[in-house]
Amino acid sequence: MLIVVALGGNALQPKESRGYPEEQWAAVRKAARALAEIVREGFEIVITHGNGPQVGYLLEAMESMPLKKPRQTLDLAVAMTQGWLGFLIAHSLEEELARLGVAKRAAVIPTRVLVSLDDPEFLNPSKPVGGYYGREEAEVLSKTLGWIFKEDPRGDYRRVVPSPRPLKILETPILKSLLEENIVPIAAGGGGIPVASVEGTLKPVEAVIDKDLASSLLAVELDADMLAILTDVPGVALNYHTPKRLWLRRVKARELKKYYERGEFPPGSMGPKVLAAIEFVEKTGRKASIGLLEEALKVVKGDSGTLIEA
Ligand code: ADP
Ligand code: MG
Repeated sequence: MLIVVALGGNALQPKESRGYPEEQWAAVRKAARALAEIVREGFEIVITHGNGPQVGYLLEAMESMPLKKPRQTLDLAVAMTQGWLGFLIAHSLEEELARLGVAKRAAVIPTRVLVSLDDPEFLNPSKPVGGYYGREEAEVLSKTLGWIFKEDPRGDYRRVVPSPRPLKILETPILKSLLEENIVPIAAGGGGIPVASVEGTLKPVEAVIDKDLASSLLAVELDADMLAILTDVPGVALNYHTPKRLWLRRVKARELKKYYERGEFPPGSMGPKVLAAIEFVEKTGRKASIGLLEEALKVVKGDSGTLIEA
């Protein structure tokens, strides 16, 4: 049984941590322990992960020294986070597997994902990235670099980039051969590096793909038996921000879609996870689950979290 397991960026770097290397190792160690238990049970897994805090760190670092060194593009920043987090996860997972007596290696695959320049997001970018700016600074950057800014609820300005739909994962055949070799692939980090076809050749684009939607597509392409989205809450809730909060234990994709359309799940957090789960279940007829990283094994068995069925 093959499971695509998506790790949340926040589960890898808890909200209260500042991002020191020791904090990252500790968080990833915990994640690896949970994943190693799944592997010990005999499940095959492919690991994907978010990169929000890490790509934010790189962009802010580059923005804070604009005249000293050349600025790197967003696709390169995403590639850096795939290596960064991939290394943390692969190293920690191999150690935890060895501790459990499981002889299995992990491999990190920098992953490109095809998007279309016709995606409506390219006309109206929605995804905030990088640091916060005052109005004047934002105007200068938008004149000099062509960046698009949006005012955020706090009154500051942030760069926004398109978040197009993932259409195809270019490395899927490589991931399949790794699985045949009994290796745990770590792929599609940060939603993957977006590339688009421009006059017949593939070019990287300045955009960010949602990691949950990319994971869902990957699960379909790999013909996985399940998509498991692990995060920092025990599942999907209705009325999340009210005293009448209700955690869903089992739900049909069709029903969940109704709640989604009613606006129960905000974009940028639970929204894309719910959409990713619905899409996987609708396309394959198989199950998806959303739950706590710490309870990973229970979540994939359907004993914890929210199980989404056809
Ligand atoms: P990740 O880093 O794992 O992708 P996100 O922060 O993007 O995590 O999404 C998980 C967050 O979604 C939770 O921490 C929770 O605060 C928030 N959330 C918003 N609405 C809901 C909901 N209806 N049910 C559960 N969690 C929700
Ligand atoms: Mg997220």
